[in-house]
Amino acid sequence: MIIMFLAILIFLALFLYAVDFIYQEQEKEASAPLTQAKAAYQDLQKKEAEIHLQKEKMQNQTEEIFTLYDITRQITQSFDAVETFEVFKKRLKARASFTDCRFLEARPDEISQMGVLPNYFLFPLQSKEHLLGFLAIENLAESDRDKVAILGHQLALALRRIKLYEEVERLALTDSLTGVHTRRYFGERFQEEFQRAQNRKIPVSFLMIDVDYFKQFNDQYGHMVGDWILQKIGAIIKENVRGIDIVGRYGGEEFAVVLLDTDRQRAGFVAERIRLATEHTTIQAYDTAVSVTVSIGLAVFPEDAKNAAQLIEKADAALYIAKNAGRNRTCRFENRPFTG
Ligand code: GH3
Ligand code: MG
Ligand code: MG
Repeated sequence: MIIMFLAILIFLALFLYAVDFIYQEQEKEASAPLTQAKAAYQDLQKKEAEIHLQKEKMQNQTEEIFTLYDITRQITQSFDAVETFEVFKKRLKARASFTDCRFLEARPDEISQMGVLPNYFLFPLQSKEHLLGFLAIENLAESDRDKVAILGHQLALALRRIKLYEEVERLALTDSLTGVHTRRYFGERFQEEFQRAQNRKIPVSFLMIDVDYFKQFNDQYGHMVGDWILQKIGAIIKENVRGIDIVGRYGGEEFAVVLLDTDRQRAGFVAERIRLATEHTTIQAYDTAVSVTVSIGLAVFPEDAKNAAQLIEKADAALYIAKNAGRNRTCRFENRPFTG
């Protein structure tokens, strides 16, 4: 009896175990697609987050490119180097983290002589083979260095463009041999200043200066020495007038000077100062030491002329008189040596 009871119990236990096993297996089987779906869903969520991140990154990059383009546009607008650098600095400040930004117009050897600038990141400003200087930025965040590299390159291009522009302007305005204004530019400036003097009723004096017997110097020593003499005379004239006066090369060995707000008396002194300085200068040209003299014709507005053209004519006439009177002298147009 007991044995039968135990057998029934064992049978029941086995039966229950089998039922539970079957149930668990069926449940496992039924939940497998659900687990798979869950995993796929999680995978999708991860991918979506990644795409979202990438989208944000691309948006940031696009914004960055537009900003860089905008800054580039702004720094290429001016023809003034200082202004361009200020615009660059201001715009960079809004985009990058640093405490100071300077432009060092120096060569690498000069930079190394300056010693280490603590906490400064040095960026060479290079346009093709031309090194324009260095950008020195203090406490620049590491993450902003790429940005500075891109913008620095744009700044270098802008500064090089300005330099070339200035060079072209300077070449057109300045006589390459003597360093004074070209005749064309001198003429323009003279017209402007004469107009102003006429309006304000202030005197203007005009000096026409010509080297005496210049042809002989050329013939005797050669054109190279002749050129050197002209260069030196250009310098003497500039040294003896004020910064506001206008000096031009009027012809081969002829110079013209406009003395602003200067009456006859003072113009005579200036002319004589130029003449005497020339006479007393020994010009060392290569292995030749020469002394030259100049003759000067002087005319003054309003006493001698009614308009600009007449003022030049009268100064030219005065020069002719000075030449005929023996050279190395200053004359007014009415045949009267200024001194003696
Ligand atoms: P004067 O005292 O009457 O002025 O005599 P001059 O010999 O100075 O006058 P002239 O007009 O006969 O000669 C001017 C010379 O200047 C002739 C020309 O060859 C020379 N010349 C003009 N331009 C230049 C230049 O750029 N370089 C050199 N070396 N000579 C020049
Ligand atoms: Mg001459
Ligand atoms: Mg002449």
